Amino acid sequence: MAFIVAIDGPAGSGKGTVAKLVGKKLDLVNIDTGAMYRCVSLYMLRNNIGLEDLQSISNFLNVIKIEQKNDKGIEKFYLNNEEVTDKIREKDVTEIVSQVSHIRIVREKMVELQRNMAKNINIIMEGRDIGTNVFPNADVKIYLDASAEERANRRLKQNNEKGIKSNYEEILANIKFRDNNDKTSDVAPLIQAEDAIYIDTTNLAIEEVCKKIIDIIIDKKKK
Ligand code: C5P
Repeated sequence: MAFIVAIDGPAGSGKGTVAKLVGKKLDLVNIDTGAMYRCVSLYMLRNNIGLEDLQSISNFLNVIKIEQKNDKGIEKFYLNNEEVTDKIREKDVTEIVSQVSHIRIVREKMVELQRNMAKNINIIMEGRDIGTNVFPNADVKIYLDASAEERANRRLKQNNEKGIKSNYEEILANIKFRDNNDKTSDVAPLIQAEDAIYIDTTNLAIEEVCKKIIDIIIDKKKK
C-alpha cells in the first residue's frame, strides 16, 4: 500500500516549499495539484474557452495531457508535451485558476488523475482538498495556514526571485480573492479535514515547519 501525506492550505501558506523539502528528505514523490489546475487554466486562456463553456471544457478534458516530471531535482510541468513550468505562474493564469478549479467537471477529472498518480508510489500531495476529498484516508494530513499579509509577502519574494514582475497590493488582493473563492465554493471547498494537524506558519521559518511535519510522519510510520 502506498503511504500518502496530504498537505492542504490557502495560497502562500508554504505548502509547495514544504512538500518539496519533506518529500526529498523522506523519499516521497511530491505532487503539486495547484499546478494541474493552472495547466487547465492556461489551456483555456490560450484556446479562448470561457468558464461557462462546459461542452468545450468536457471535450478537451478527455484528451488533455498534464505531467509533472523531476528534471535534475527541479519539478517541471508539461501541458500536452510542452514545458509550461513558468507560464502557469503568470498573472493571467493566477487570476482565473481559482474559478477554473471550481468547475465541477474540471475537479472530477483532476481528482481522478491525482488518485491514479498515487497508485503504487509513496507521495506527498499538496493542494486544497487532498485530505478532505482526494485522499480522505491519507496516512498523514496537515493543514498549513498563515496570515494573508504574510502569505502575500512570501509570494512577492518568490516572484522576485523568479524575475516575475509583481506588486504587493495586487498579490494581497488576489490572495484574499482566492481565499474567499476557495473557501466558499460548492465544489470541494478549502476546509481543514477533521483529522488534519493544523500548523500556523506565520512566525515559523520553513525549516521549523519541515521539522514538525517530518517528526509527525516518522511518528506515524512507527505505529
Ligand atoms: O497552489 P496554487 O496557488 O498553485 O493553486 C492554484 C489554485 O488552484 C488555488 O487558488 C485553488 O483555487 C486551486 N486548487 C484547488 N484544489 C487543489 C489545488 C489548487 O482548488 N487541490
